[in-house]
Amino acid sequence: QDNPVDGHKRVLLAAPRGYCAGVDRAVVAVEKALQRYGAPVYVRKQIVHNIHVVTELEEQGAIFVDEVDEVPEGSHVVFSAHGVSPMVVAAAEDRHLHAIDATCPLVTKVHREAVRFARDDYEILLIGHDGHEEVEGTAGEAPDHVTVVNSPAEADTVEVRDPSKVVWLSQTTLSVDETMETVNRLRTRFPELQDPPSDDICYATQNRQVAIKKVARDADLVIVVGSANSSNSVRLVEVAREYGAQAAYRVDYADEVRQEWLDGVATVGVTSGASVPEVLVQEVLEALAEAGYGDVEEVRTAEEDLMFSLPKELRQDVSGQR
Ligand code: SF4
Repeated sequence: QDNPVDGHKRVLLAAPRGYCAGVDRAVVAVEKALQRYGAPVYVRKQIVHNIHVVTELEEQGAIFVDEVDEVPEGSHVVFSAHGVSPMVVAAAEDRHLHAIDATCPLVTKVHREAVRFARDDYEILLIGHDGHEEVEGTAGEAPDHVTVVNSPAEADTVEVRDPSKVVWLSQTTLSVDETMETVNRLRTRFPELQDPPSDDICYATQNRQVAIKKVARDADLVIVVGSANSSNSVRLVEVAREYGAQAAYRVDYADEVRQEWLDGVATVGVTSGASVPEVLVQEVLEALAEAGYGDVEEVRTAEEDLMFSLPKELRQDVSGQR
């Protein structure tokens, strides 16, 4: 009641935010597979890293498993947007599974780069997070040629066989700034380090970071909607803090927004990760409006109109339906 900023409360809503083309395609792929083949349709790993999306698909009849050996022989299985290693593809074939590959085409692009550089006998320094599904999938394309570099600090210690034949690639959902720091530190040690043929950090990750940087400058608090295992969502929290937000938090749902976060706060920045449906953002905006932050201004830094066609296995089966 003695909030000094009463009367000046507002929300800056970052744009672009939320669903990217790869997530949209992967979610639609599971929905189409359910329509086409009927439940259950199995999905290896979370189709995208968002708890709400996974729960909704489960309600429609999707069954999420960790590995393909949990899938009954002959069933349909969808590979998640994060991609799979060739070992997983082979394991699915061994079980006579009907695989639908929802790997984002921008992840597949990095897989192809890994295959190509490994074939030319490069050592690949894969900047990314050990244990993340995307990194496992990409590294699995050339396990003997890939070393994962988790952080700028690791760039100072990683060893290579031949410094004249080293290339860096990266996970698609990293912090652009931190990745550049890692690359710079690697290049200090390995001056002949080669760059990827094109950006591995995808357009959606980059665009969401640019937008939240602009918002964070003017925000006392930033709320990022996204799940804890969503790499690009967690990066948005870090970037917001780095670019001036006094505080930044990640929530899955509106009811996780705490009253005390708003104490003394005039401007709240809001964004969402690439795996987050817009409905969850709208619920956060409703909760903020109830707390007096009904004035919402969108801060847009890019337009996005990219769309990917469905995985080829579904294009053949549901032609004409998108
Ligand atoms: Fe593809 Fe980027 Fe979306 Fe990941 S975040 S699914 S790489 S577009």
